[in-house]
Amino acid sequence: MRYDISIIGGGPAGAMAALAASRRGAKTILIDDKQPGVPYVSACAEGVGDAVLKSLGLSEGPWVMNRCHNIKITAPNGTTRVLAPKGLTALVLDRAAFEASLIAQASEYPNFNYSPGYRATSISGHKSGINYWKTLDVQSIQTGEIEKVDSLIVIDCSGIRATIAKQAGLYMPPLKRSDIGVCSQYRVLSPELDEDTFELWFGSKYGAPRGYIWVFPKTSCYSNVGIGVPGGQGVDTKKNLEEFINWRFGRYAEFRSHYIRASIPLAPPLRQVSTPDGIMVAGDAARFCISTTGAGIGMALWSGREAGAVAANHLKGHLPLSHYDDICHKTIIPKLERAYRLKNRVTKSDESMQRYFYALQPLLWLHNVAPRWVEKRAARNMRFA
Ligand SMILES: Cc1cc2nc3c(=O)[nH]c(=O)nc-3n(C[C@H](O)[C@H](O)[C@H](O)COP(=O)(O)OP(=O)(O)OC[C@H]3O[C@@H](n4cnc5c(N)ncnc54)[C@H](O)[C@@H]3O)c2cc1C
Repeated sequence: MRYDISIIGGGPAGAMAALAASRRGAKTILIDDKQPGVPYVSACAEGVGDAVLKSLGLSEGPWVMNRCHNIKITAPNGTTRVLAPKGLTALVLDRAAFEASLIAQASEYPNFNYSPGYRATSISGHKSGINYWKTLDVQSIQTGEIEKVDSLIVIDCSGIRATIAKQAGLYMPPLKRSDIGVCSQYRVLSPELDEDTFELWFGSKYGAPRGYIWVFPKTSCYSNVGIGVPGGQGVDTKKNLEEFINWRFGRYAEFRSHYIRASIPLAPPLRQVSTPDGIMVAGDAARFCISTTGAGIGMALWSGREAGAVAANHLKGHLPLSHYDDICHKTIIPKLERAYRLKNRVTKSDESMQRYFYALQPLLWLHNVAPRWVEKRAARNMRFA
């Protein structure tokens, strides 16, 4: 089959790219290796600021499972602060339902095709007239059969590996081990926890050297509890997380389930995110993840939307594909590069993380004196996280 745009991966980046491209009339296919009708556990803590959804014009749906107004931060030396910034609400999503709702919106356009249960395995190209067609080999997860999908533009939204974009020649510097966030997560029964509070526990004392453990209450009954640390330290994240859960959750610790292990790019963002012959990347595939926190949902949604929109407008002859690079360079790439430099300074050791907490004290003091001023600026910075 021939399409204008093929999108690989039905995470937040791919779903938003699909919606943006279909809305603009492009004949679009979304290829996703998740199997239809088979429930899956998202490799994510599912936390996102409400400012992210607002800035993208997405109204909240039943996939918002919880709204938290407090953040309890425990520093590497064990001191704790509870922040309750006004005007900032942290949402915990049901990501599977959220992505399904974006895909359902895209499906309202007759020019959109959703192809779940297929994995893109390789890419090749051929010239036909003035067009350069990309052919994806896509393999059915169920039968193993390979089918061919032709399109003029391929947007790789397949997450950190971005195999197809790499194969197609987009330059991706190798990831250093310390630039990969190694994560483990459980869902834990937590009826006694305050469901209005996100918890973050930093440092080795809690089993997260140079990283942190999160407790995000998803409902009044259970929470996403996970750990993320920079790679290359030989940390057994599963073991450390289980020890933390035993300590923090007491008699409920054994009621844990849905274990996942996954990685996040804590690397600098890619500087080239499209090629003249029609390859684009968005979300984790473009390494658009805030490396100080590991938050990537907002970046994925934003970059997916921009990639889909630019691709569709390019096919109408309105824009060069490099316009996508231009907007990324004007908006998120400098922010992500700053975050990367900060991450390298802050997460050197427990001591450097502790120093950062001390450095934040004046900001907390300022927040007491001029809360609206601080909150307004924080909200502006939370557009992507
Ligand atoms: C444990 C953990 C916790 C996290 N918690 C948070 C959080 O609380 N808040 C936050 O903002 N960020 C969080 N992140 C980061 C966030 O999950 C990612 O940044 C975000 O999911 C990136 O979205 P994406 O669409 O680029 O990629 P993904 O969400 O990885 O989606 C990629 C999709 O592509 C599919 N796919 C992959 N390869 C192929 C292929 N070859 N063919 C077809 N389909 C393919 C995958 O199945 C998947 O559906 C977390 C990450 C981890 C690992």
